[in-house]
Amino acid sequence: MTKIKVLLFCILSIHCFFAFTQNINVRIFSNVKVEEMEFVPSFGNYILIIDSSFEQKIGRKSKINIEKDKDSLTVKLNGELLRKAKRVEFLAQGLKAFFKIDIKTKKEKERRYDDNLIVLPYKDKQIMLINKVNIDNYIAGVVQSEAGGATDNVDFFKLQAICVRNYLYTNMNKHLNEGFNLCDDTHCQAYLSRANKPQVIQGAWNSKAEVIVDANGNIIETLFHANSGGMTVSAEDVWQKPVDYLQPVTDSFSIGMKDYRWEHFIKIRDWLNYFKGKGMNIKNDSIENALLTFSQQDGRKKDIMGIPLTTVRKDFGLKSTFFSVQKWGGEVKLDGRGYGHGVGLSQQGAINMCEQGYEYWQVVEFYYKGAKVVKREDIFNQLNN
Ligand SMILES: [Zn+2]
Repeated sequence: MTKIKVLLFCILSIHCFFAFTQNINVRIFSNVKVEEMEFVPSFGNYILIIDSSFEQKIGRKSKINIEKDKDSLTVKLNGELLRKAKRVEFLAQGLKAFFKIDIKTKKEKERRYDDNLIVLPYKDKQIMLINKVNIDNYIAGVVQSEAGGATDNVDFFKLQAICVRNYLYTNMNKHLNEGFNLCDDTHCQAYLSRANKPQVIQGAWNSKAEVIVDANGNIIETLFHANSGGMTVSAEDVWQKPVDYLQPVTDSFSIGMKDYRWEHFIKIRDWLNYFKGKGMNIKNDSIENALLTFSQQDGRKKDIMGIPLTTVRKDFGLKSTFFSVQKWGGEVKLDGRGYGHGVGLSQQGAINMCEQGYEYWQVVEFYYKGAKVVKREDIFNQLNN
């Protein structure tokens, strides 16, 4: 190859590389009032860019402090005033750079995030922090924040990563009018740090570009709950709207897991009066008897004497709608199974499946009827940053 060809090849490779580096802007510390912050590179070097006009390379020994002063930001480097600014960006050099950020309040510990950070003035005395992060690094961070302690099984983390990617795909413009894609709170998906657990990182990166689609190829909403109690619920029974891939599944994998069983005791009088309040004639013996012997031993039901179980669950604060009733002295004992709404994937069942050796796509096909895992390289192309 001639020198020119080599050069051209390099330029094209770099171009292709950047074309596939898809970043997302996530507001961090979004539920906290941030008035100042300290940035320190933890690994790799950074370029500090102020108002697109000033650039300085910063390494691991540099400490940058930013706070708001009137409408602008005051930027200090190692304690010395550097500039006043409207926008500050920390641009990661290299693929693995990450930084430490401390917002100097007692309640919030310092956190570590991958890739880049943008700092902007916000309302009152506050500043806004936006992590401009590679999509798969973001996905790994969410998986670790939400389920990092659940198991060490890589397939389970792949499954979680794909669910996070599905959510991301359908919600990536949720905060666009505020100047970022997603927040780091449970309003979007909890994203409290970068991932540092190897199995979580492996799960996110080894499922790269994979999403779950329904039988028509549409990205699905990956609803999940803690434990199905042995049988999942159709979406229609909970939200009155049928969804093809959210149908009841007999789920032996949830049996015996952490939240499989629960008990709840209610005074007989309170239990019957509750239904009286719903217009039922509890003086009628057969109605009273039905309320005191209600059973779901043979499978889930939708209602108890016409009252939706979802309503009963909400009114008594029950772990699930999957319970049977029996008299227990002056009380009724609710013998319950499962935890959560019961629709879609049972997290504890999924962990059990993965630990038994099932692969992540088999778990997907088990809980979401007719759905499958596919690679969609194009899905985040609308993110142009
Ligand atoms: Zn949000």
